[in-house]
Amino acid sequence: MYSACPLYLSVFSVPSVANISLFGSTMIEKTATELLTLQKSGGATAASIADAFLAAVRAREPKVKAFVHVDEADVRRQAEAVDAKRKAGSQLGVLAGVPVAIKDVLCTRGTPTTCSSKILKNFVPPYDAHVVEKLRAADAVLIGKTNMDEFAMGSSTENSAVQTTRNPWDTERIPGGSSGGSAAAVAACQAPLSLGTDTGGSIRQPAALCGIVGVKPTYGRVSRYGLIAFASSLDQVGPFTHDVTDAALLMEVIAGHDRRDSTSIDRPVPAYTKSLGEPIKGLKIGVPREFFDAGLDAEVEASIRAALKEYQALGATLVDVSLPHSAKYAVAVYYIVATAEASSNLARFDGMHYGHRTAEKTDLIGTYAKSRGEGFGKEVQRRIMLGSYALSSGYKDAYYLKALKVRRLILNEFTDAFAKCDVVMGPTSPSAAFKIGEKSDNPLAMYLSDIYTISCNLAGIAGMSIPCGFTKGGLPVGLQLLSPPFDEEKMFRVARMYEAATDWHTKRPAV
Ligand code: GLN
Repeated sequence: MYSACPLYLSVFSVPSVANISLFGSTMIEKTATELLTLQKSGGATAASIADAFLAAVRAREPKVKAFVHVDEADVRRQAEAVDAKRKAGSQLGVLAGVPVAIKDVLCTRGTPTTCSSKILKNFVPPYDAHVVEKLRAADAVLIGKTNMDEFAMGSSTENSAVQTTRNPWDTERIPGGSSGGSAAAVAACQAPLSLGTDTGGSIRQPAALCGIVGVKPTYGRVSRYGLIAFASSLDQVGPFTHDVTDAALLMEVIAGHDRRDSTSIDRPVPAYTKSLGEPIKGLKIGVPREFFDAGLDAEVEASIRAALKEYQALGATLVDVSLPHSAKYAVAVYYIVATAEASSNLARFDGMHYGHRTAEKTDLIGTYAKSRGEGFGKEVQRRIMLGSYALSSGYKDAYYLKALKVRRLILNEFTDAFAKCDVVMGPTSPSAAFKIGEKSDNPLAMYLSDIYTISCNLAGIAGMSIPCGFTKGGLPVGLQLLSPPFDEEKMFRVARMYEAATDWHTKRPAV
């Protein structure tokens, strides 16, 4: 499936990317909302849209490497089915004919789902994840599965056992991680929408580094059914899009209660797209002073400060808030809680119950050890060991239980901060995209990439990243917005206020 992906072998019969230009921006540069309008007006069919994006995948994949699986014939079949439905006058779903790329951690019926790990190389799920069911019900066209850090552990996509995805703005650099494939696919206009997962920043950080919008919903807002677990108390599925309108639209589709996930919350899903255009009067923005301490790149800081100024010009007031525990302990707490949960979740992959089995003839324990040693990469093994250690008797109180207590303090300080403001804002990532290989030998340096994103997952609140500028070297910078739980509606309105006044979200890289 990996190197011999059928995509690269088949004879391609669709026009090249350069030939597809409609109404100013090329088809592939359009947002999902624009593609929906285009189809309604008769300006394009779902099949022509699918062909344009498949052509983009084919042309750009050798450079970007965002996908681990694309089945062209299946993509065309899905698109033709949408066109047939439209022709027959049937009711169409809200994403009819819009291609969506899916992170390879989400189960897709009949399509390989590997978490970019050797241990799941041959896994073909017999069922769809809840969010995938929702996409199909909305008549979206699933264009392919995207590359990721193995089991979503990483910040650069370099931990994939398949390939390293490249940042479309500079292919010598990482796209961020762990959902780097999904972020790069949207940034490189290989799909207008994609899904990622965020356990400690894996949607917001790659969105920031690739110059697009990425949303980490409130814990419990989106069902985790069919999401292969990394750290169950932190994982959430969320959208990658070119703009806030598309993010609101995709959230309307994937959010909502699902009784198959016991942590999914039964609350109505607001019509996010309806209220988007309403600015928040008297908006109060909390700016945590600790988010601007040493370690923040000067060019990133300048873009964030300029974005805050823009908000002031739009009538917002900046409020000084403090998140001392988040700043000091979030990374440490996260690497205890997340690894502890991962060590338990990944125990099932032992070559007997699930996953790759070693060919070597040995006893039971030998089979477990060999299969896991062959199947899991270095980072995954490191985390299983760390998590098992933190949970072991004698150490559990000192590490795991202590971490849970600090986790509560982090939530408390967010609750205090939100008493003074509507949203909290700051940088998404301490630096713009770094060079491939720059941090791969230094796990601690890599872990610090998520210093601003992790506390949101620990607190279970909502967060997003929106494009807010570029460095002098032409690398995107992301502004992070954090909101109280289940306040995504307001968060989108606040994000849209800035977007409506700026044009960062309209930029596309020349791949
Ligand atoms: N980079 C963080 C990690 O390696 C977050 C990953 C994620 O959100 N999935 O754990």
